[in-house]
Amino acid sequence: MDIAKVIVDVPASSIDQTFDYRIPEKYQAIIAPGMRVIVPFGPRKIMGFVVSIVSHSEFSKLKNIEQVLDMTPVLTEELLELGKWLANHTMSLSITALQAMLPQVLKSKYDKEIVKLTNEPLEEELEMLFAGRDVITFDEFEQSNISYYQLQKAIHAGDVLIDYIVKSKITKKYITMVQPVREAYLLEEAYVELPHQAKKQKEMLAFFIQHPEPVEMKKLLAILKTTRSTLKALEDKNLLKTYKEEIYRNPYDDESIQRTVALPLTDEQQDAIQPINEAILYDKHDVFLLHGVTGSGKTEVYLQAIQQVLELGKEAIVLVPEISLTPQMVNRFKGRFGSKVAVMHSALSAGEKFDEWRRIHQKEVSVVVGARSAVFAPFENLGIIIIDEEHETTYKQEDQPRYHARDVAIHRGENHHCPVILGSATPTLESYARATKDVYKLATLSKRTNNMPMPNVEIVDMRQELHAGNRSMFSRTLKEKMEDCIKKEQQIVLLLNRRGYSTFVMCRDCGHVKECPHCDIALTYHKNTNRLKCHYCSYEEMVPVECPECNSDLIRYFGTGTQRVEESLTELIPQARVLRMDVDTTRKKGSHERILREFSNHKADILLGTQMIAKGLDFGNVTLVGVLTADSMLHLPDFRSSEKTFQLLTQVSGRAGRHELTGEVIVQTYTPEHYSIQLASEYNFNDFYKKEMGMRKKFHYPPYYYLVLITVSHENKVKVVQTTQKIVQLISNKLNNTSMVLGPTPSPIPRIKDRYRYQCMIKYRNEPHLRQYLHKIVDLFSEETRKDELFISIDMQPYHLM
Ligand code: ADP
Ligand code: ZN
Ligand code: ZN
Repeated sequence: MDIAKVIVDVPASSIDQTFDYRIPEKYQAIIAPGMRVIVPFGPRKIMGFVVSIVSHSEFSKLKNIEQVLDMTPVLTEELLELGKWLANHTMSLSITALQAMLPQVLKSKYDKEIVKLTNEPLEEELEMLFAGRDVITFDEFEQSNISYYQLQKAIHAGDVLIDYIVKSKITKKYITMVQPVREAYLLEEAYVELPHQAKKQKEMLAFFIQHPEPVEMKKLLAILKTTRSTLKALEDKNLLKTYKEEIYRNPYDDESIQRTVALPLTDEQQDAIQPINEAILYDKHDVFLLHGVTGSGKTEVYLQAIQQVLELGKEAIVLVPEISLTPQMVNRFKGRFGSKVAVMHSALSAGEKFDEWRRIHQKEVSVVVGARSAVFAPFENLGIIIIDEEHETTYKQEDQPRYHARDVAIHRGENHHCPVILGSATPTLESYARATKDVYKLATLSKRTNNMPMPNVEIVDMRQELHAGNRSMFSRTLKEKMEDCIKKEQQIVLLLNRRGYSTFVMCRDCGHVKECPHCDIALTYHKNTNRLKCHYCSYEEMVPVECPECNSDLIRYFGTGTQRVEESLTELIPQARVLRMDVDTTRKKGSHERILREFSNHKADILLGTQMIAKGLDFGNVTLVGVLTADSMLHLPDFRSSEKTFQLLTQVSGRAGRHELTGEVIVQTYTPEHYSIQLASEYNFNDFYKKEMGMRKKFHYPPYYYLVLITVSHENKVKVVQTTQKIVQLISNKLNNTSMVLGPTPSPIPRIKDRYRYQCMIKYRNEPHLRQYLHKIVDLFSEETRKDELFISIDMQPYHLM
């Protein structure tokens, strides 16, 4: 057993296989699958993952592994298998799939240190190497003659720890703890024997007779108003001992979180949780779709299911969309499970993320709450995986590996024989269709726990407003209701159903729209810098004073960015205090939370924002929700636009009247008759589902058909068209006659960063060999992709059709 099969860090399809390396003597006792190594590869030395260890190789001249990077595997056997599945499932490279499961820190440059955690002496050689120090560099260890096996043993015993130093930033902190080393009655004996004058020492002993648990040295000395010398005296008498404990950067202040206990469940919740608990208890993998209106107590169901998982000594993963991962949300889990909870959030620094990952890796926590990538948490004994707001498109990763967290969760659920819960007020058609066919088990929560009705929704036809001479973006009804609401000292949430980048510059004389010279997309106007920016490349320029086409000076800003809405809002209702939340105001770390906190403290009357305000917020004083343009999303070139509109309107309506006060919702639209707007206003998911399923069937879209989107890009337009054409021909020949291949067509954004983009779409119901065909076709172009920067991207089950 001295040969390692290694997947090397070379992102090329021609290299996408394992390579055999010989394991040098010194590493033989410690190496294991899931560890990272440095290996020679051609003229270079590169990183790789050991995926298995074998005794024979069919190759004769093997090179040696140069270095082993980890003393304990960073990927479990299960995650190695998952990586293989992921690569195949998403048509990405194995190395890309494996890398996706690890925190960023492990992919960057770092130095390693060995930290001594115990005050007891280590084994002789190691102790000599430390020579009284707490920390030594890993290099020092490597230059010594001490075996890796000895080091690994000390790590497993918890006596030392390998630390990663990223770009000279200290990634870890330690505190000194104090603990009695004798039993209480022996401490009491010592107490009696101590002379009178040793007052401070007596006080300290008395403290530990009452509180035998370890305590932080700094706190202890502060409580007893004494110094290190008192402690030293008792240490020398062998009554107390000190040791170092790692503390994690904790972005959430755990101690201030109010602890909660399980609530008695409502009948509906009880019916929903019962089969879930059964699956947990009997190690049964099932997927449950928990369809519950907003405020129906889905989260309480999650919490109690997790409780049961923890009681069985197992672990839980909870996925929450990035923007719903607010302190409010996190505190619900920390409030119930305290320090057993790790949080994986993209707003954490790389070091903080690494800490959280390590707490999971070292089995110090048993619950992780996080965004998409938390689905890869290296737990080994999973008891449940929960995906809240399962309809959110952010669960699909848009770069390689293009995975959907739902698919990964279900695959891991199968591996661990544990249930997967998908929760939503507006499930995706895909999931709901599976539930109606009993592929998933459906549980429904139809009532809010406080028995408050869902807020009444009024649809306002903006065309009528225009006819009545109102040219503003606020209808008369909305204006009146807002003023009324402010008068009553209640609060308002206003949703602008668009991203910030909808403000473009147009010439009023000739209609010329300023576009990015590198991408075929309008430039966005940024008021604070008075510049035009491209959101796809970093191009920017000053706003022109006259039209480059016709020299007219009638340049105007179009579209309704949040900035502009804010301006007109304060013009319309000068007394209103407005908080704006969009990509621009939340770019800085912590600003998202700050805005929410201010709103929650009633520092503003109106919270104005994009999509990001629609989710998960729970403010008791919000009684009015306004949607400015409900239909703007309906016109996007995306077959899911009706579904997304329905979801968004339902979500945002759920923000009103969540507690004692009743709420109401005003939806402004130019297409009031559209079924997704009508049915959302009635909270009628079932009819929406039926209607939309009819559309999907008619136009051959999911869930009736599966999709593959192939996008080709290159600087030369002719080459792009020809390549796409060729792909269409090749794949058409392979597929059966119920499948369809559409294209080539220009992508919705036909050029980005000077590269032309064409696409084709495959629609199919059953093509068991599709991935093989696609692999073969991509291989045909591998020469050009490598040498000529031809780029072919394959997105299995795409969510963004851009
Ligand atoms: P959802 O996740 O479905 O939107 P939540 O779990 O946030 O709903 O529940 C809404 C509110 O109802 C919360 O304030 C929660 O504490 C409360 N709640 C949930 N379950 C119960 C219950 N069984 N009894 C009383 N209150 C409950
Ligand atoms: Zn012009
Ligand atoms: Zn651009």
